[in-house]
Amino acid sequence: MSRKANSARVGDRKMAKGKYLEWVTEEGLLLIEGWARDGLTDEQIAYNIGINRDTLYTWKKKYPDISDALKKGKKVVDRQVENALLKRALGYSYEEKTKELLANSDLQKNRGHDHVVVLTEADWQRALAFFDSECAYCGEQKPMTKDHLIPLKQNGMLIKNNTIPCCTRCNSSKNDSNFEEWYRKQEFYSEKRESRICDYIKMIQLLMDEDAFEKSKELTVTKVVTKQVHPDVTAQIFWLKNRKPDQWRDKQEINHSGGLENKLDLSSVPVEELRKLAQTDG
Ligand SMILES: [Zn+2]
Repeated sequence: MSRKANSARVGDRKMAKGKYLEWVTEEGLLLIEGWARDGLTDEQIAYNIGINRDTLYTWKKKYPDISDALKKGKKVVDRQVENALLKRALGYSYEEKTKELLANSDLQKNRGHDHVVVLTEADWQRALAFFDSECAYCGEQKPMTKDHLIPLKQNGMLIKNNTIPCCTRCNSSKNDSNFEEWYRKQEFYSEKRESRICDYIKMIQLLMDEDAFEKSKELTVTKVVTKQVHPDVTAQIFWLKNRKPDQWRDKQEINHSGGLENKLDLSSVPVEELRKLAQTDG
């Protein structure tokens, strides 16, 4: 359009007419297409352009580039809504995974099977360090043996919190006795040493609980349930009214043929509404 032709246009109508020139540019058309793809209505797009809806309507008729851009943008969103609506109309299934923090139950499990935890070399070294490599009962530094506080014969097993360093003499003297009963009868009995033994047991128990807790901290998939989303009747009706209007449109329209145009049209319904309808997971 020449400068002369442009400047000849005076008055509101003609100003609006000239305005379209900004919008038939590559940039302008892309913008319009984008708005249509975003689901904006014609009215909203007209507002964005700075014209009223009627002017946009005129533009669509007069300038194929503009109506093409609108159609192109709407096609994308219509297709998305169509797909979503069809999915809802037919129903579908999905897998629901439940992940849980199993800390508590694992901890309880571990507590229940306390006595199965085996004493490692590192555990033994820790025990020796705790008691300064002395017999936990008499304080001798003779070659150490592993004493089971609860004797093996009384269902005690070689576990972290049941094993303390003990000299060979104490070990054979204690034999299968309960440690408190036996220890208190000994001439080298020391209240201080006894409470130290109890402290050690408590410490190891805490460490074991912490271990179990750390191990169980990771989320574990505890359940996979296939869920079925049943076909949605509203979505079905909506779909059919639009795809097969002759068979499915509202009765009143059939009765008043040529009268009220009541046909549902996807493009005339705000896209956000369609999306809500189509994508609601029931
Ligand atoms: Zn001893």
